[in-house]
Amino acid sequence: MTTRAGARLLEGAPIAEEIRAGVKADVAAFTATRGRPPALAVVVCGRSAPSMVYLERILKACASVGIDSRFVDVEGETVTAQAEELAAAVRALSADTTISGIIVQMPLPPGISLRVVVDAIDPLKDIDGIHPLNAGLLRLGYEGFVPATAHAALEMLERSGVTIPGAEAVVIGRSPVVGMPVSFMLVKGGATVTVCHSRTGDIAAHTRRADIVVVAAGKPGLVTGAMLKPGAVVVDVGINVVDGRIVGDVDFASASEVASAITPVPGGVGPLTNALLLAHLVRAAQRQTADSDAARVSPIAAVSPPPTQGAS
Ligand code: NAD
Repeated sequence: MTTRAGARLLEGAPIAEEIRAGVKADVAAFTATRGRPPALAVVVCGRSAPSMVYLERILKACASVGIDSRFVDVEGETVTAQAEELAAAVRALSADTTISGIIVQMPLPPGISLRVVVDAIDPLKDIDGIHPLNAGLLRLGYEGFVPATAHAALEMLERSGVTIPGAEAVVIGRSPVVGMPVSFMLVKGGATVTVCHSRTGDIAAHTRRADIVVVAAGKPGLVTGAMLKPGAVVVDVGINVVDGRIVGDVDFASASEVASAITPVPGGVGPLTNALLLAHLVRAAQRQTADSDAARVSPIAAVSPPPTQGAS
């Protein structure tokens, strides 16, 4: 499908459907062999409406492919009690052999550090790649669990036939969940990558020479068509609510006049994120069982075959 201006529309739903079909087959095979389905635990610490919608979507997606899910609600009278309960819940789920993967609702309530989760989660069950072991594996070019949103941005490019090796890429945003992992994955894929962020003086000077622009800043209208090289591919990860409507970080109307391909918001990266989280969960289940069959070794050995591409 193309936009009115002629750019190819990179929609997430058809790719997500393909991924879910593969996951469904893998779940059926796992369940037949193991006598139980893979299971996801979702931990919620203080309910906020937008992230509850996201989590409910994930739980529904799990059910649609045969993945079991468990919802753990952490309460606690005080912030300290809540943090302790959160750590205990994540530790118990990490030790529970019937649970294959764990995600914790983000952001955590004020006063509770991400460290509480990181210290308690088994890296082999960290399917959204928040543990430093997984972040380190990505940084070193090994395979671990990467954050699903960052993975979705890359998957969108790869499955849409965009050439990454040799491309000039600009990533806007340097967060540990999106910007930085996307940058590392693009470098690993052979792109020359520039990371722009809130302290970058002239973002357009960078984006105007980019073949690929990935935007993850949380600022509506940050990138316009005038900032793009003709024919660039634009992946908009941003999710913002403006006048009750969901929009990305890219001014879609002007960008689609200049780009050769662009993701819509909503309907681009979002649906892929959800499907990839399920794929990560199944991979975690498979690795844990393969690992226990071969006597449990270190998390690094279990999640990381040696890099297939040289880091040179
Ligand atoms: P974040 O707030 O942690 O990081 C934002 C980054 O953008 C920072 O590195 C900051 O330096 C940079 N930035 C902010 N303002 C900027 C500006 N004016 N110019 C250049 N850089 C700027 O956010 P995040 O968690 O990385 O999320 C980024 C966006 O992606 C948000 O809109 C978020 O809602 C969205 N998101 C989407 C999905 C999805 O599935 N599509 C998932 C997670 C996050």
